[in-house]
Amino acid sequence: MLTETVKAFNRDATAGRDSLYGRGETAYERALGDPDGPHSNLGTLEEPPFFALPITPGAVGTKGGPVIDGRGRVLDWTGHPIEGLFAAGNVAAAPIGPAILSSGMTLGLAMTFGWLAGAHAATGDSGHEH
Ligand SMILES: Cc1cc2nc3c(=O)[nH]c(=O)nc-3n(C[C@H](O)[C@H](O)[C@H](O)COP(=O)(O)OP(=O)(O)OC[C@H]3O[C@@H](n4cnc5c(N)ncnc54)[C@H](O)[C@@H]3O)c2cc1C
Repeated sequence: MLTETVKAFNRDATAGRDSLYGRGETAYERALGDPDGPHSNLGTLEEPPFFALPITPGAVGTKGGPVIDGRGRVLDWTGHPIEGLFAAGNVAAAPIGPAILSSGMTLGLAMTFGWLAGAHAATGDSGHEH
């Protein structure tokens, strides 16, 4: 079974495709890979020693969550700040919407809005528009 899986994987990698999972099909994946290989992201498994490791899912960023304004204040359904409630980073809806613009965006936004929220919380911002 494993032998067949590896053979199929190697056939795909040599042909520049991934018929099981579609890895390498997006321009983003290809840009992060090796543009000169037959497959930008996968290589054949041929020469031992081989190593295996478990892979568990993790979150780089989130796209849902409470919407915040430019002061890091959480907005209610009507778009008004909720008094005393701030959010930044992965617990807030990303200010850039459903996009990844570049590496570092999630940390940059988390730090920036964390600072903004902290600054406004520390100055006793009531949550109401001034
Ligand atoms: C593998 C990986 C690579 C990444 N690479 C990049 C990168 O290159 N550039 C980039 O910009 N971003 C990157 N990110 C994303 C970035 O790390 C996160 O967006 C960022 O760390 C989010 O910060 P945060 O403070 O919102 O949340 P977190 O860093 O997750 O902090 C939340 C904290 O709250 C704590 N916590 C949770 N529940 C409770 C509770 N009930 N009580 C008390 N504490 C609690 C947690 O222990 C944690 O310390 C990467 C993420 C991963 C996983």
